[in-house]
Amino acid sequence: MLLFFFAVGWSNSALAQFKLWCASGGGDWNCVTPIFGPWTFIPILFGPFDGLKPAPTADAAYSELSAKAASFSATTGCPLTVGPLPEFTFLDSGSHELAKVQVSWNDGQACINAGLNTVSGQKTATVEGFRQFLGCPIGAVRAVDQRTWTDPSVVCVAPPTPQYVIKLSRLDGLAPESGTSLFSNEPGQPSPELVATVYDEHNQLVPNVLVQLQANAIPNTGGHHHGDNSVTLRTGTLASADPSANLSQNAQILSGNTGSTGLVFTYNAPPVGGDNTIAATCIDNHHCTQQGPMQVGVGIKDLQPLGDAVFQSAAPIRLTGQTTRHPNNHYGTAEWVQSTIVLATEFFSRKFATLGINDMSLAQGGLFDIQNQSDWLPPHILHRTGTSVDIDRTACLDLTVTGANCPTAEQLPVNFRLIRILCEQVGGHILKEPTIHCQLNGSRS
Ligand SMILES: [Zn+2]
Ligand SMILES: [Zn+2]
Repeated sequence: MLLFFFAVGWSNSALAQFKLWCASGGGDWNCVTPIFGPWTFIPILFGPFDGLKPAPTADAAYSELSAKAASFSATTGCPLTVGPLPEFTFLDSGSHELAKVQVSWNDGQACINAGLNTVSGQKTATVEGFRQFLGCPIGAVRAVDQRTWTDPSVVCVAPPTPQYVIKLSRLDGLAPESGTSLFSNEPGQPSPELVATVYDEHNQLVPNVLVQLQANAIPNTGGHHHGDNSVTLRTGTLASADPSANLSQNAQILSGNTGSTGLVFTYNAPPVGGDNTIAATCIDNHHCTQQGPMQVGVGIKDLQPLGDAVFQSAAPIRLTGQTTRHPNNHYGTAEWVQSTIVLATEFFSRKFATLGINDMSLAQGGLFDIQNQSDWLPPHILHRTGTSVDIDRTACLDLTVTGANCPTAEQLPVNFRLIRILCEQVGGHILKEPTIHCQLNGSRS
């Protein structure tokens, strides 16, 4: 027979049932110190006596307990669960002692404190505890009529950790560029003043948090498809005038205190174009996650690919110089892309051969590192702003060739003086390189 018994505390009825069991022949009812199994605690709800009612079946009781536990956990964040279905089968094989217990929040911990009364002012919840009666020790002589019980054990569970949020924004209050991008800037330029601020779960500013910011590069951005994204030439650096600020890792990492209004800092864009991030964390006892835009774009805006123009206009141009490290090397300002097409078209009208257009700029401009074994070194002094073009020294008489592989018999040496004239016609000047470099006059390096 199953009997559900949800009395709270060591009630007289519980004692009576216990004695009944002892008297029924299942054990020595004269126990002085009965033996019980371990305690199991079940949350009821806040406040006493408002939770569990006797249930008609074992499944119904268990279901109700589970629901109460879930509600308790959701309300308090205290990760309590109901154990296996307790069977109150004291007439047949066992008994259960019931007790009222509490959950209190002390010193940052949620403590399930068995047998103590509610302490005024404490946030409390009632949970029900039960333990199974296992038997009586041999030699026990008589029953007890009344007892009080205090379980000395206190089970403590760490409460849910408060979650904080750290956000980056512009100090001037201007909106971020997008949901992911804080702002964009040209290579080598300092950012507007930025601020790192910590908020609590109610979106209230939390002062005096120790935070750490780190400048990182997103691999394969800016047209650079090679590793080693950790150097400052690639990541950029951080700076702050705040007296609490500390720089480390070649100024890629900045730590400091947010004070009363946030930690003000700046980001110095690297000479290499690309998409970078400023990762923010809290490094004291605040557990915070970063929200909001954290990306910074580094590059020359609105550069156009020469390739698109070439294929649309069928200009007599071959695109050369692509590598796996820099597969897209033909970007320029809209004007310079047109100038390059004019130059090549003019050359073709005179020589009936296609010019090989080699490196221009990468998609976001910036430092164009072309040496195979030395990432980020600047052999190309120019090529950073979309106003440079390198012209191969051999043109191709085979008009079906589109890239660099012109058959030897079809190769035509390019007349340097002619290129100089054509370069000057489109507003540029020549620089001596292994290729012939035409640079827009007055352009920034
Ligand atoms: Zn590169
Ligand atoms: Zn060049």
